[in-house]
Amino acid sequence: MNSQIELDKLIDLITKNKKIAIFTHESPDGDAIGSSLALYMGLTSIDKEVDIITDEYSSCFNFLKDREKILSQAKKNYDICIALDCATEKRLYDPTNEFKKGKHTISIDHHASNTFYAECNYVEDKSPATCQTLIKIIKRLNINLTKELGEAIMMGIITDSGGFRYDTVNDETFEIAANMLDLGVNISKIYNDTFDLQTKSQFALTKIATSRLEFLCDGKIALTYITSKDMEETNAKAGDHEGIVNVGRKVEGVIISIFIRESEKNVYKISLRSNDDNINVSEIAEAFDGGGHSKAAGCIIKGTLDKVKKALIKEAKKYVWTGY
Ligand code: 5GP
Ligand code: MN
Repeated sequence: MNSQIELDKLIDLITKNKKIAIFTHESPDGDAIGSSLALYMGLTSIDKEVDIITDEYSSCFNFLKDREKILSQAKKNYDICIALDCATEKRLYDPTNEFKKGKHTISIDHHASNTFYAECNYVEDKSPATCQTLIKIIKRLNINLTKELGEAIMMGIITDSGGFRYDTVNDETFEIAANMLDLGVNISKIYNDTFDLQTKSQFALTKIATSRLEFLCDGKIALTYITSKDMEETNAKAGDHEGIVNVGRKVEGVIISIFIRESEKNVYKISLRSNDDNINVSEIAEAFDGGGHSKAAGCIIKGTLDKVKKALIKEAKKYVWTGY
C-alpha cells in the first residue's frame, strides 16, 4: 500500500510540474467544490495549466469564482492528476478514466477511510475538511491568498464542519476563519446561503421526506427516503436533497439518522449521521462497501426500497439496540 507523502515532497512535486487536473468525488458537496475551485485559483495564479473536472453540483455554489471553468470530463495528458476530498478511487468522478493516466497522481483528503489509492497521498484524518488541509498546502506553495480563494476555502470548511459545530473543528479552523475574514471573506453570508437558504425544490423534497420520517428502536433510529419520482415531481436539481438527513438527526433521542435517496431504478444512495460520540456510522456504511467519517457517512445499496430499508435497519440496530 502507498504511504503518506511528506508535505515538502508534495510541494516539490507540484512545483516541478505544469499540467495539472483536479478531480473530486461524485455528487460534489461544498468541500469538494470549494477545495477544487480554491486549488484551481491557486495553481493558475502560479502559471500552471489546470483543468478542473466535476460532476453536477448544487446551484448554491454558483457564487464561487471560476466555477464556469469547471469541465464535465477530463482532457488528456496531465503531469499530475489530483483527487480532492475523495476517499476511494471508486467514488472519484472521472467518466473517461483519466485520473490514473496522469504521470503522477495525488490524493489530498481528510477521510479516515481513504484507501491511499494515489501514488502520493496526503491525508489528514483529524481535519474537519479537505479545504482546511488544502489551505496549508496552498500557503506552502507561496500562493497569494485572495478573497475569492478564501470564499471557496470557507465554503468547504463551513459545509463539512456543519457550520463549525462538529467536534472535528479545532483551533486551526478558527485561525483560518480569522485569516479569511481579514481577506474580506463574508463568512456570515456563506453560512446563511449554505445552511438557511433552500431552493423551492429542496423545500418541497424536505417536506415529503419529513412526512415520511419514521422512528425505530425506541426513537433511537430515524429513517426517511425520497424516490426518483419525488425528485421529478418537485423539479429537483443536483444538491436539492442536501440537508434532509438532518431532519431526523435533530429530533430528541435520535442517535442514528438514515436518509435513503433513489438515484436510479433499484439503486439507492444512503446518508448516515450519528449523534453519539461512541457510534461510528462509517462502520455501518462500510458494511455496504461505503465509508465516510464517524459522525457522517454514506454508501450505495442496490435492490428494492423495501429490501434496502430492511438491510439498513438490521445493520443500524446492532449499534443502538441491545434488545430486552
Ligand atoms: P453525505 O451523506 O453527505 O453524502 O456523505 C457523508 C460523508 O460520507 C461524506 O464525508 C462522504 O465523503 C462519505 N460518503 C458518502 N457516500 C459515500 C460512499 O458511497 N462511499 C464512501 N466511501 N463514502 C461516502
Ligand atoms: Mn470533505
